[in-house]
Amino acid sequence: MSLTAKVMAGMVLGLIVGVVFNMMDSAFINTHVVGGLFAMIGKMFVNALKMLVVPLVLFSLLCGVMGIGDIRVLGRVGGKSLALYIFTTAIAIAVAIALALLIGPGEGFDMAGVDTAGVTGAEAPSVWDVFAGIIPTNPVSAFANGDMLQIIFYAIVLGIAALMLGDASEGFYEGCQYMNELMMKVVVIVMAFAPYGVFCLIAKTFAEQGIDLFIPVMAYVATLVGALFLHLFVTLMIILKVFSGLNPMIFIRKIRPAQIFAFSTASSNATIPVTLRCVTERMGANNSVASFTVPFGATINMDGTAIMQGVATVFLANVYGIDLGLGGYLTVIAMAVLASIGTAGVPGVGLVMLTMVLTQVGLPIEGIALIIGVDRLMDMIRTAVNITGDAVVTAIVAKTEGEFDLSVYEDPDAGLIVGDEIHVEEMHTPHPHAHPNPAE
Ligand code: ASP
Repeated sequence: MSLTAKVMAGMVLGLIVGVVFNMMDSAFINTHVVGGLFAMIGKMFVNALKMLVVPLVLFSLLCGVMGIGDIRVLGRVGGKSLALYIFTTAIAIAVAIALALLIGPGEGFDMAGVDTAGVTGAEAPSVWDVFAGIIPTNPVSAFANGDMLQIIFYAIVLGIAALMLGDASEGFYEGCQYMNELMMKVVVIVMAFAPYGVFCLIAKTFAEQGIDLFIPVMAYVATLVGALFLHLFVTLMIILKVFSGLNPMIFIRKIRPAQIFAFSTASSNATIPVTLRCVTERMGANNSVASFTVPFGATINMDGTAIMQGVATVFLANVYGIDLGLGGYLTVIAMAVLASIGTAGVPGVGLVMLTMVLTQVGLPIEGIALIIGVDRLMDMIRTAVNITGDAVVTAIVAKTEGEFDLSVYEDPDAGLIVGDEIHVEEMHTPHPHAHPNPAE
């Protein structure tokens, strides 16, 4: 059984166990199994994924920059991916708003009786601050805080400086390649625990989320899920086909492991190691492109999150009986795109962004109380959409840059983790003290 199959089994089993536990509603199970054991293992697994992110991004990006070796190409990759990320997010939210306006969720809804205490708004960061903040004042604190844009910036500057030093950087380049491979092996080790981690995360979520949370906002959930799936299976696949000519069917199959991790963790950032592995080893995108586009996308590209902003705004506008008009919706599109650039891909941040969008168009942010109950599940689905967008753009940029191996893409077994990847090689370098040099 391949690891992907085991992870999927873990997910399905987690779903069943979670729903059963939710129906049983036993105090012992809720405290000790769901809130205890499942929460602990799930957290350990997410921690292990996060542990990989910063060193993996640093070394793979250093290898990427030194591997490209040409600053102009680097600029082109950066420009293309930025443009595509903004383009896909804008399309995502525009389609979502259109769909929501068509369906009209929330019309005739009565806000009376909804507890709106505890809803607080967030200030939208100014675009200028976001750009200024890309440059770290202290790289060590950028690494310590896992600030992805700052880490990307610093790694690129280091890589360029290493290129400027020319031959003197040879040892450094080899060291980075070694570190990159080493980190990729750590990914394989962590992945071995994925079926259990995913099982616990999913079981915990479904044990805690009762079906009764969904009933009052069913129209919102249905519209949102519809819009997310439309983007995932139609819009993104058309974009992939048109810009890269790649077969969408193969793409959907190969991105699945990353989607499962995104769904289980609700964090694009924590999923970076898996996304990176999917696009390079499963699809054949060269690391020189993927090492940049994947962490960059995890931070600035959030198609699924933008879709949620669009549907939620229409829903709340309907609930409050406010007509936003074309100008209002254009503002929503612009705000959602900007907000997704400035916020990191971590769980629940979409809801924070929504308060910024609502404030901007003058809708009461108390309305969020309505949808907060279902947000965890929506977060899981939209995160899977977010990382799929990252992977589509990565494939397009790699393909158009000629940094794409079609034979890997077309090989169904490429990059699958199978049991024999976890075995330990013997080291043959003799230890200096154990084997003293006979000449001495
Ligand atoms: N959890 C999402 C992500 O990491 C962001 C969000 O929509 O809350 O991509």
